[in-house]
Amino acid sequence: MSDCLFCKIINGDIPSSKVYEDEHVYAFMDIMPLTKGHTLLIPKTHCQDLFEMPQDVAANLYKAAPKVANAIKQAFNPVGLNTVNNNGAAAGQTVFHYHLHLIPRYDETDGLHLQWNTKKFEMNELANFAQAIQENL
Ligand code: AMP
Ligand code: ZN
Repeated sequence: MSDCLFCKIINGDIPSSKVYEDEHVYAFMDIMPLTKGHTLLIPKTHCQDLFEMPQDVAANLYKAAPKVANAIKQAFNPVGLNTVNNNGAAAGQTVFHYHLHLIPRYDETDGLHLQWNTKKFEMNELANFAQAIQENL
């Protein structure tokens, strides 16, 4: 897509620090990393987010994910790694070309603070939620 920042990065119109590339995906350093080694993995086929992503594009993207994650692990010896994918502005998405953040973790002060405020639902409510989703598969 001509006015997409990440399509321009794939095409080389905007510079990036490339980590990995194959026929289907491109991986590069996030320009504002949360931690050392924070990498973005994107499909070469433009799709805005997970909702729009064809299954074959998703399969090819996730096929490359362990390869890149293990290379980050070997390079920096993190104690863990979070994958993050924001879909929609309300979910924190700022670039509307699907991207998977690969964020190596070092300790609890390393720049990524995840706080899960969990809620309690009864089993019958969970079953209703499951059914609502199933009906739309
Ligand atoms: P998100 O908020 O999930 O849409 O993430 C977008 C990410 O893209 C942010 O972490 C930005 O730092 C990153 N980003 C934006 N522009 C560039 C760029 N030119 N090169 C590399 N990363 C970028
Ligand atoms: Zn794009």
